[in-house]
Amino acid sequence: MNEKKRIAVLTSGGDAQGMNAAVRAVVRTALNEGVDVYAIYEGYQGMVEGGSRIVAMDWNSVGGILQIGGTVIGSARCKKFLTREGRLQAAHNLIMHGINGLIIIGGDGSLTGANIFREEWSSLVEELLETGKIDAETAAEYPHFLIVGLVGSIDNDFTGTDMTIGADSALHRITEAIDAITSTAASHQRTFVVKVMGRNCGYLACMGALATGADWVLIPESPPDVENWKDVMANRLHTGRKHGRRDSIVVLAEGAHDRDGNYIGSSDVQAALEERLQEDVRVTVLGHVQRGGNPSAFDRTLGTRMGYEAVRTILSAKPDDAPVVIGIKNNRMTRLPLLEGIQNTRAVAEAINAKDYDKAMSLRSTSFIEVFRTLRTLGRAFPHPIDPEQKRLRIGILHAGAPAPGMNTAVRAAVRLGLDQGHIMLGIHNGFDGFAKGEMEEMDWMSISGWAAQGGSLLGTNRRVPQGSDLYAIARVIEDKQIDALMIIGGWTAYEASHTLLNSRKNYPAFKLPMICIPASINNNLPGSELSLGADTALNNIIDAVDKIKQSAVATERCFVVEVMGHYCGYLALMGGLATGAERVYLHEEGITLDALQKDLKKLTYGFDHGKRLGLMIRNEYANKIYDTNFICSLFEEEGKGIFDVRPAILGHLQQGGNPSPFDRIQATRFANLSLQFLAEECEKGSDRNAFIGMRDGKVQTHDMRDFDRIVEFEYQRPRDQWWMELRGIARLLAQHGPGEKR
Ligand code: ADP
Repeated sequence: MNEKKRIAVLTSGGDAQGMNAAVRAVVRTALNEGVDVYAIYEGYQGMVEGGSRIVAMDWNSVGGILQIGGTVIGSARCKKFLTREGRLQAAHNLIMHGINGLIIIGGDGSLTGANIFREEWSSLVEELLETGKIDAETAAEYPHFLIVGLVGSIDNDFTGTDMTIGADSALHRITEAIDAITSTAASHQRTFVVKVMGRNCGYLACMGALATGADWVLIPESPPDVENWKDVMANRLHTGRKHGRRDSIVVLAEGAHDRDGNYIGSSDVQAALEERLQEDVRVTVLGHVQRGGNPSAFDRTLGTRMGYEAVRTILSAKPDDAPVVIGIKNNRMTRLPLLEGIQNTRAVAEAINAKDYDKAMSLRSTSFIEVFRTLRTLGRAFPHPIDPEQKRLRIGILHAGAPAPGMNTAVRAAVRLGLDQGHIMLGIHNGFDGFAKGEMEEMDWMSISGWAAQGGSLLGTNRRVPQGSDLYAIARVIEDKQIDALMIIGGWTAYEASHTLLNSRKNYPAFKLPMICIPASINNNLPGSELSLGADTALNNIIDAVDKIKQSAVATERCFVVEVMGHYCGYLALMGGLATGAERVYLHEEGITLDALQKDLKKLTYGFDHGKRLGLMIRNEYANKIYDTNFICSLFEEEGKGIFDVRPAILGHLQQGGNPSPFDRIQATRFANLSLQFLAEECEKGSDRNAFIGMRDGKVQTHDMRDFDRIVEFEYQRPRDQWWMELRGIARLLAQHGPGEKR
C-alpha cells in the first residue's frame, strides 16, 4: 500500500465566492506539510478527462486568487460522472497521477457524487485490474481512497454546518440589491417583489428580508399558513403604506410554494398584489448576480479555515476512514460524516416534498427559526393590540461610544419588538451625556422605519463615561421618567459606563434596575462576545480598500504598510490579513521588535529580488508606539532602496462608515431580541441584574456585569481571552513565501 499521501483538490457544481480561498489554503497547507498536491480543473469533468486537467500545484500557482469570485480552477456539471463508466475513468486518472486523497469543494450534489465514488472505490480498482488498465502491484497500492468535502454553496443549504462557502457573499449581493431597490421604491412609493436563490432553503430569503427590513417573505420550509395568504399579504402592505411606510418589498425564495405544494412564482405575487393594491408592482429576479462579485471577508476566512482543516483531516486520516465534511459550528471548525450530512440535507427536501413543513422547519437551526419568527413581528404594519391587564415597562435605549454599523438595526428591532410586547420604548439621544440632560423621546412603530440598513448612530452617541455630577443627573432622569430597564448599545464606553452605574448603586439606588449592554464596536474588543456589531462591516471595508490598494500597484515593485483600527485589539488586523493574504500582520498582542522588523525586511528584499512585485503588511494602529506605520515605512524604504518602494495606507474612518453588513444586521436583530427578553424577564422577577450579552460558543448568552473587570485587561481595553488568536498559525502559514519557511 502506498504510504505517502498525494492529494488533489477540485471545485464542482455551482460556483461560490470563497472557493478560491479554500483552494489556496488546501494547496499551501499541503505543500507546507511536504505533500504533493494537484488541482483538478473543471470539477469531475476534469477528473474523468484526466491529462492536462490534472495539474501539480506549487506555492505561487495559488497566489493572487484570494479576492477573486467564482473558482479559478473551474467547475462543471459532469454527466459522465453520474455513470460508473465515468467514475471508472476518473479512478484510473487519479491512480495514474498517484493521487490517493481528494478534497472536494461543492454542493450536496457534488458531495453525493463523492460519496458514491468512495463507496465504489475498491470495486473500481478491481475492475481496472481485471481489464488490464493497471497491474496488481498498482492495485495493491490503492485499497482505499480518502475523501474530505467542503460545502461550497451560496444557498447555505447543507445541514450540519452553520454556514457554507459563498452564502455570506450572496447575502451581501442580495442586501446591496434590496437596499438599492428600497431607495427607488421609497421615492415612488412602489411595491417590489425580489426573487432570490434557494430551492429548498429559505436562508437567503429570510436573512435578506431581515437585513433589509422587507415587509413579507416567502420561503420553501414554511409556506403561508392561511389559504387566503394573498389577501393577508396585500392587506399588510396596504396598511403599512397607510401608516407611513414609503416602500413595500416582498422577498421570494425561488423554491417558494403554497401549503398544497403549488409553486409560487414572482409573477404570481406580482399579479396578486397588482389586483389587490391597484398599482404597478415591479419584479426583480436577482439570479446570477448572487454568485458574482468578490467574496466577502467572511467567505474568504471561512474558505481559508476550511481548506486548512481539510488538509489536516486528510493527513491525519487512517486509510479506511469514512469521508467527512468540514463544517463550521459555533464559530469553530467541525468534522462530520459526509453521509450523515447528505442524509440530513435530503431530509429537509423530503419533508418539504411531503408537505411536512413542521418537520422541515425543525431540521433548520434554532437561529434560523428564531429569525423567521422575529421577521414576522418586525414586518408588521403596527403592533399587536395591548392587553390592558399587562404591565407596560418603560425601557430606555441608548447608544454609547463610537458609532458602529449595526447600532441602528438593533434599535429598530428593540423598538418594534418592545412595542409589539406592549412596552414603552424611550430613545435616549447622544449617549450618557444626553441621558444626563434628559434628552429622550418615546419611539413609535414608524419612527425607526428604514433604520435597519443605515450606518452610524441615528440616536446620537457620545464617548463620555458618566462621573460625579453626571451620575446624579442620570439617577434623577431615571426616577423622573420612571425608567424600568435600560438597553445600552455600544463599545467600551458603554460597558465602562454600565459598570460605573453598577458600582454606584450604593449612592444612587436609582441604578438598581435591569440593564443590558449590547456589544457594538468595530474593534471587536468586548468581553463575552466573539463578535461585536460593526466588526464584520469594518472588516469588509478593510478588504475592499486593500483589494483596491493592491490593484493600484501593478506597475512597480511596491510594499504597502496598511494601518487598521482596533485600538489595542488585533482582530481587524489579523482577520484583515487572513482575508487579503497579507504576508505580515503586526499586533499589539504580540508586539513589534526591531529584530522582527529586520527579519521582515530581509524577507521582503529577498522576495523582491526574486520576482515578487507586491508586498502587503497590515499593522494594528496601536501595535507599537515607537515602531509606528511611518517608522516601518521609512525603515523599509531606506533599506529597500533600489529594489522596492514603500507606501503607507492608513485606512482611518472609512472602516467605521458605510451601511452595516448583512451579518451585522442579523446579529443586531438577534441581540436586540434576546436583550429585550432578558430585560422583561428580569423586571418580571423584580431583579436588578446588570449584564452584557454576546455570542459565545455558538449561543447568545448573557454575562453578569460584576465579572467585567475580571475578564478584561483594563489597561488595553480588551478581553483577556480572545478566540481569534488561535487563527494566527493559519495566517502565518499561508503568508509564507514558500513551504516550510521559518519566521
Ligand atoms: P452541486 O454540487 O452544486 O449541488 P450538482 O448537483 O449539479 O451541483 O452536482 C455537480 C456534479 O456532481 C454533477 O454534475 C455530477 O458530476 C456530480 N454528481 C451529482 N450528483 C451525483 C450522483 N448522485 N452521483 C454521481 N455524481 C454526482
